[in-house]
Amino acid sequence: MSEYFNVADIFGEDVFTDKVMKERLPKKVYKQLRKTIEEGTELDLATADVIAAAMKDWAIEKGATHYTHWFQPLTGVTAEKHDSFITAPNPDGTVLVEFSGKELIKGEPDASSFPSGGLRATFEARGYTAWDCTSPVFVRKDAAGAILCIPTAFCSYTGEALDQKTPLLRSMEAINTQALRLLRLFGNTTSKKVVPSVGPEQEYFLVDEKKFLQRKDLIFTGRTLFGAMPPKGQELDDHYFGTIRQRIAAFMKDVNIELWKLGVTAKTQHNEVAPAQHELAPIYAEANVAVDHNQLVMQTLKRVACQHGMKCLLHEKPFAGVNGSGKHNNWSITTDDGINLLDPGKTPHENIQFLLVLTCILKAVDTHADLLRESAADPGNDHRLGANEAPPAIVSIFLGEQLQDVMAQLISTGAATHSIAGGVLETGVKTLPNLEKDATDRNRTSPFAFTGNKFEFRMVGSRDSIASPNIVLNTIVAEAFSEACDVLENAEDFEMAVHDLIKQYANEHQRIVFNGNGYSEEWVEEAARRGLPNIKSMVDAIPALITPKAVKLFGKFGVFTESELKSRVEIKYEAYAKAINIEAKAMIDIASKQIIPAVIKFTKSLADTINAVTAAGAEASVQAGMLKETSALLGETKAALDKLIDVTAQAGAMEEGRGQAVYFHDVVMAAMSELRAPVDKLEMIVDKDMWPMPSYGDLIFEV
Ligand code: ADP
Ligand code: MG
Repeated sequence: MSEYFNVADIFGEDVFTDKVMKERLPKKVYKQLRKTIEEGTELDLATADVIAAAMKDWAIEKGATHYTHWFQPLTGVTAEKHDSFITAPNPDGTVLVEFSGKELIKGEPDASSFPSGGLRATFEARGYTAWDCTSPVFVRKDAAGAILCIPTAFCSYTGEALDQKTPLLRSMEAINTQALRLLRLFGNTTSKKVVPSVGPEQEYFLVDEKKFLQRKDLIFTGRTLFGAMPPKGQELDDHYFGTIRQRIAAFMKDVNIELWKLGVTAKTQHNEVAPAQHELAPIYAEANVAVDHNQLVMQTLKRVACQHGMKCLLHEKPFAGVNGSGKHNNWSITTDDGINLLDPGKTPHENIQFLLVLTCILKAVDTHADLLRESAADPGNDHRLGANEAPPAIVSIFLGEQLQDVMAQLISTGAATHSIAGGVLETGVKTLPNLEKDATDRNRTSPFAFTGNKFEFRMVGSRDSIASPNIVLNTIVAEAFSEACDVLENAEDFEMAVHDLIKQYANEHQRIVFNGNGYSEEWVEEAARRGLPNIKSMVDAIPALITPKAVKLFGKFGVFTESELKSRVEIKYEAYAKAINIEAKAMIDIASKQIIPAVIKFTKSLADTINAVTAAGAEASVQAGMLKETSALLGETKAALDKLIDVTAQAGAMEEGRGQAVYFHDVVMAAMSELRAPVDKLEMIVDKDMWPMPSYGDLIFEV
C-alpha cells in the first residue's frame, strides 16, 4: 500500500458489508437476510447454507484459512476458537474447503472454563455460540493469517446468557419496543425501529516496550504498583492536544488503517491530559456494533503498539498521581428514519416529546443511579471514581443552562414558556467570523452530561467492555418509557396528561440534576443531603445488581433473569478478588526479589564508601545519614512486606464470594499501600543505576 491513500478506498475492505452481500448473494437470500437483520426473523438452514458458502468464498479470496465464532464471555475480553475450512482429505489426498450454514449459525465451543457464576456445573458445561447477524462479519489479519470472524452470542445449554452480547441485544429490544410505544402516542406512525446509538471515546497510554518489559507490575497487572512521582507531571498541560510526536503518529496511522479496513469508523485522535496518554474516538454506531467495534479498537491498539516497539496500557490507572484513562460512552436513541429522540430542537420548551423523553431519562437515572454506577465498576476504575479524579462516584446529570432553565420553569410554574437562545460568540477580530454559540456550555466534571443531542456517560473504565453501561442505560430508559406509556395510553386528555407527567417527573427527580463542579467537596456533601448514593468501590457497587428493584427491572424486560443476575454477582466478586490477589502477589514478588535485594546492595555500597572515606581520614556523615535513613526504610519495607504476605495468604484461604472480595478491598489493598509508601521513598534515595526498574519519568516522558 502506498504511503498516501484514499480512506474511502480501504474503508470496510475486510468486512462482509451490505454491499458485498448484495453483490454475492442471490436476491432472494439477500432479502431474507436483511429481514432477519432488521426484524429478527429466523433464518432457515437452506438460506444459511447459501450465505455461508458466499461468505467462505469471499473470505478465502482475502486469504482466510480459518473461521471463528468471536464472542464476549464475562472475562472483559473477547474469545475465539479457530477452525480451518478444510474437510477430510479425498482419496487422492486433496482437500475441499467447506463452510456450512450450520457452522455459521451455531457453534459449540468446549467453554467450560469461562466464568459462569454457577450457571453451569462443569459436568454440564455445554455452551453455545449463536451468530449475531446484526454485527457484520469480518476477516481479521494478523500473525495467525487471515481469520473469518463471526460475531456471536454465548449462552448455556439452558439458554442463560454467559456473555455481554446476549443481554445487550435483549436490552436493545426492550428500548425499541418501549420507545416505539411512546412515539406512536405522539402520532408517529412511520418509524419502524428505534435503536440506541453509541460512540465511545477510548483513552490509552503508550510506553516503550523495552521499559515495559522491565516492569513486572505492568506485565502482570497492567498498572504500576510502585513508583515515585517524577519532577514533572501533567501540571503544565503541555501534552493535552499537543503536537503528536512522530513515533506516536506512525502508530496512530497504522491503527487507523487497520480499523478502517475492519469497518471501524476511527475518526478523532489526539494527545490526552497525562503525558503518554492519548485518545481515539470512532463515529457512533448502533449499540451492539459499537460494543464489538470497541473491542476491536482495544485489540488493535495493543497489537499495533507491539509492531512499533511500544505497549498500549488500557488500565484505568497505570500510574498513581497521573490522570487515569476512561471511556466516554456517548448515547442517544434514534429511529430508523433518522429522528434522534434526544434532539431538543431550537426551542426545547415547545418540544413536548423531547421534554417527556428527557424527564423519563432523569427518572431512570435517578431511580437506578446505583445500577449505572455498578455498570462502570471494575477493579481498575476504583482508582479513578471517587478517588479525587474525574468523574466522581456520585451519579448526577448535567443539563446545561438552556435545559436547566426549561426545567426550572416547569418546576416553578408547571409550564415552560421560553428557551434561552445560544446567541453569537464575538471573536473581536475583524477577519474572523463571529461564531454561533451553543445554548449549552460543557461541564467536564459531570458523570452523565447532556451534550446537545446525546448523553455522555463518563464513568466507564478504559479497559472495560462498554456492554454493561449500555445494557443498563437501555433497560432503565425502557422502563421509564414503559411507565410513562402506561399512564398516557389510558389518559382521557393526552395533552394534559403529558404536561402533568413532565411536570411530575421534573419535580420528583430534580435532585439528580447538578450543573456545578462535580469534583468539589461541597458537592459530596450536597449529594449526601439530596440522598444520592456515593458508592466508592466495586465491592460496594456489586450488590446493586440484585436488589429487588434491579431484579424486577431486568426481569420485566427480559434482559436478565434473577439467576443470571446472581451468577453475574458471583463472577464479579470473584473477578475482583482475583485481580487484587494478582496485584498483591506481584507486589510481594517484586519487593522480595527486586527491591529489597537492590536496597541491600545500595546499603552495602554506602557502608563500603563510609569505611573507605573514614580510612582516608575524611568525614562521612552524609553517607552515614543516608545509610541510616535507607536502613530504616528498608526495615519498614520488610515489615510491610511480611504483613502483605500474611494478609494475602489469609484472603486466599477464604471462601469465594462477597466476604473474600471485601477482605481484599479493606485489608489487602491497605497492606499494599503500606508497602508502597516506604518503597517509593527509597526510590528517591537509591542510586538510579541500582534501582531495578525504570521510573515513572522514564516511562511517561521517554516514549
Ligand atoms: P467530545 O465529547 O470530545 O467533544 P464529540 O462531541 O465529537 O466529542 O463526540 C464524541 C463521540 O460522541 C463520538 O464518538 C461521536 O461519534 C459520538 N456522538 C456524536 N453524536 C452522537 C449521537 N447522537 N449519539 C451517540 N453518539 C454520538
Ligand atoms: Mg467527550
